[in-house]
Amino acid sequence: MTKEGLTAFQAVNVYFEEAARLIDLDEEMYSILTSTYREISVQIPVRLDNGDLIVARGYRVQHNGARGPYKGGIRYHPSADLEEVRALASLMTWKTALLDVPFGGAKGGIEIDPTGMSPGELQRMTRRFTNGIAHVIGVYRDIPAPDMNTNAQTMAWMMDAFSASHGYSPAIVTGKPLDLGGQPGREQATGRGVIYTLEAYAKTKGFVMRDLRIAIQGFGNVGSWAAAEAADRGARIVAVSDRFGGIHDPGGLDVSALVQLSKAGGSVTDFPGAEAMSNEELLVCACDVLIPAALGEVIDTDNADAIQARAVIEAANYPVTPGADKILHDRGIDVVPDILANAGGVTGSYFEWTRNIQQMPWTEEKFNEVLAAYMHRAYVAVDAFTTERGCTMRQAAFAIGIQRVALASRMRGYI
Ligand code: NAD
Repeated sequence: MTKEGLTAFQAVNVYFEEAARLIDLDEEMYSILTSTYREISVQIPVRLDNGDLIVARGYRVQHNGARGPYKGGIRYHPSADLEEVRALASLMTWKTALLDVPFGGAKGGIEIDPTGMSPGELQRMTRRFTNGIAHVIGVYRDIPAPDMNTNAQTMAWMMDAFSASHGYSPAIVTGKPLDLGGQPGREQATGRGVIYTLEAYAKTKGFVMRDLRIAIQGFGNVGSWAAAEAADRGARIVAVSDRFGGIHDPGGLDVSALVQLSKAGGSVTDFPGAEAMSNEELLVCACDVLIPAALGEVIDTDNADAIQARAVIEAANYPVTPGADKILHDRGIDVVPDILANAGGVTGSYFEWTRNIQQMPWTEEKFNEVLAAYMHRAYVAVDAFTTERGCTMRQAAFAIGIQRVALASRMRGYI
């Protein structure tokens, strides 16, 4: 629940409504697109290594499939309840449409804290969950991917569980290990895409990447690759954090050493020589660009007034609540919305899926080249709409996505 008293799905629908008004969406289509197509909730009993049994709950929500098979990640997190998964599924619908990849929107999750679970426990839980949702997923039906606290190994277990009853099906999930049909570049794609988008934004505003001081909340898949990609372009990463806290160095942190530390299982808070900083302090620290790359709803009406960045690039899904979005807008702080900024992940997943179907991977160079072209095309469309209509980038991104989904839904005869 946001500070404004909205559930995550209601909050995403506030953004939907603002954009729907801009494009005069009719009421019938409004009702179709503000509700989800299918939601399943499954029981997941897991035998722990110590013999105890826990019973977790898992969800798969399919929001809209007018433009192609449902697509969206699976997260393992205590906050991944049905409302959160619904919100994230609907964001996927607008994101896939904005990027013009032939997918619909879905999301899944298990409402659990996986910290400290052994590989055996995680594998048993993942297989149970996959079996529980197997009747609604499929290579041309719904294709899961990694998200918070899930990774290539999780996808390998999902693929194996699904393939056991459907035959060898690498295209059932994306974000797989390279040796199991994964696509070189996919793991990095979300973080890289965030920086491709930042670069495009900086260019339109006349900022130079080398001059930017960047703070990044979250140092997992997305945050760490975004940090590495930004540092490669000469930007200064002045603060990073993970679930244990953050660190800060106005002179710039050594990103490759931090990545090594994190790959070895360490927390950024173990990094020697940098000043400690809490996650709350990081969000309001002195920087030019703030990249939330962890949880949703971290920028709300309590801290939006204190944000010092000139721009917020939403690498995480739904990090800014509607009340905070308004405050940032009134303060002249640009927000590059999640459905644009973090769309490199699903775009890269689209490439992986097509490569699996053809059984012919691309090189990482080819992957990055096409990814950059897709991200650039979406940015240009959002920028043009923003200029033409005098609206925010979020309103433009949603409006473009909604128009495409509404058109496909109408052509398919949904109403
Ligand atoms: P991840 O699990 O790899 O990393 C999450 C990071 O956030 C970790 O560093 C973790 O320590 C940190 N974190 C967790 N709880 C925190 C807290 N309370 N405060 C601060 N940091 C905390 O996850 P990821 O795949 O990098 O995903 C991060 C965000 O990006 C999520 O919002 C996800 O939905 C979004 N996203 C991911 C992808 C993808 O391809 N992985 C694609 C699009 C969007």
